[in-house]
Amino acid sequence: MRFAAVSIDLDELHHYFAIHGLPAPERAAHVVYDRAVPRASDWAEALGVPLTFFVVGRDLERAENAETVRSLLARGHELGNHSFSHHYDLTRRDRAEMAREVAGGIDALTRATGTRPLGFRAPGYLVNDELIGVLASLGVAYDSSVFPSPAYYAAKAAKLFSLKLRGRTSQSVRGTAKMLLAPARPYRLGTPFWKRGGGIPELPIQVTPGTRLPYIGTSLVLAGADGARLMTRTLMLEPFVNLELHGMDFLGVDDELGPLLPHQPDARLTRTAKLAALTAAVELLKKMRFRFVRLDEAARTVG
Ligand SMILES: [Zn+2]
Repeated sequence: MRFAAVSIDLDELHHYFAIHGLPAPERAAHVVYDRAVPRASDWAEALGVPLTFFVVGRDLERAENAETVRSLLARGHELGNHSFSHHYDLTRRDRAEMAREVAGGIDALTRATGTRPLGFRAPGYLVNDELIGVLASLGVAYDSSVFPSPAYYAAKAAKLFSLKLRGRTSQSVRGTAKMLLAPARPYRLGTPFWKRGGGIPELPIQVTPGTRLPYIGTSLVLAGADGARLMTRTLMLEPFVNLELHGMDFLGVDDELGPLLPHQPDARLTRTAKLAALTAAVELLKKMRFRFVRLDEAARTVG
């Protein structure tokens, strides 16, 4: 049986503004929870696909957001931990702070829903051995953060370099190039984390076989429906597809994205165009006989 999973990181828009060194407008504060989440769950339910939402713990201090995640859980979706504060430089902080961030995310979700989250996704896809050690010591059941895509890594490095040239400070961090050596298919984390070992399961962010191009929401929406189908076809022989999206992928230009337009090409797309690309990918995966599961279910199949 071949599995596919769709997960959505619920980064609010202020994180995107921070990546580009821009101030976030007040009216953009809750756009992801208030607009993107309902659209995402409607979209997935129409396709019969269960979702895994990665939640930033701090966002649950807003009562409406806590209510939203409770209803997602009640509808059969999974909630995972995306840390308490979503610090892009989490791997550069000391172990005590990493532990506070991971435990803070677990506690926030447990308090809001009564259910302890099983999975973790690191901010900016960045982990290191110390952070993996923290996950294991806190009883986290699986991680889904490693993103072994040279193309993504190069694009991020170029972006950070160009911001630096223009004297702007990004909140984003590049991380070690060693992560590019990690397996592209699910594995048990070793030491170092990009090697196989006997640790908790890692469900890497999907890349295309061989070329290791990022197969994530941003690349699918930029490719359009036909491009998304072409990319999806390359996954024909994969045992598992881990499609990672962001709340951002369910927002259009009229959703307070204005100031991001010069910096992020995907912010210029209409919501309809984005949805068409994501739907094309999911429908083709179904046709290719992938069975959609939540990430916690997929993690249990890692040998
Ligand atoms: Zn994030």
